[in-house]
Amino acid sequence: MREGKQVQLRSVVNAGISAQEIAFDIDGVVTDTMSSFLRIASEEYGLLGLKKENITSYWLDKCLDIPQTVVDEIVHRILEDPFGSGLTFHSGARETLQEISAVSTLRFVTARPLGGPIEEWLLTNLAVDADKLVVVATGNHAAKGGILREMGVRYFVEDHLGTCIDLHAMGINAIVFDQPWNRGDDTCVRVRSWGELASMIHLE
Ligand SMILES: [Mg+2]
Repeated sequence: MREGKQVQLRSVVNAGISAQEIAFDIDGVVTDTMSSFLRIASEEYGLLGLKKENITSYWLDKCLDIPQTVVDEIVHRILEDPFGSGLTFHSGARETLQEISAVSTLRFVTARPLGGPIEEWLLTNLAVDADKLVVVATGNHAAKGGILREMGVRYFVEDHLGTCIDLHAMGINAIVFDQPWNRGDDTCVRVRSWGELASMIHLE
């Protein structure tokens, strides 16, 4: 039954998603947050040799041999200061989001506890007007579904597998943005690049 639903969603997705009905998680989807994390760990904490491919769990303490206090410090810094922590876009994200912004408001729903710093980073780096961009910071993953429903969002791109599965169960079409930490489950449609994602979205 689940496979049937997956096939059904795949065909809907292939037919095209309206720019008006899609929203995005930020970290691990729009931004290459893990690369910033690993760069800070290497340059400022001397933790060399950590690779993105080694991050096989969303929860860093489960897959990296780094003290929890260091994980917390780096994560805190990325949350508070996206500019200073050298956050970058995933390849193609900036261009695709700018194209969407020409026809629709950009909607982002993040589990970050604080929306302000990342909203400012997005506004600056996407160079879009403030009224074309909405960031909702829920503070936790479980709150995303309710927010997306309120926003009327039908498709959501997310890298946290558990959230994708929960949204799927709520009838929201979660699209997994492929990352080393979210593999091994095919409940939801999976995309591997922003190019692939862009090809699914109607810009009208
Ligand atoms: Mg994420």
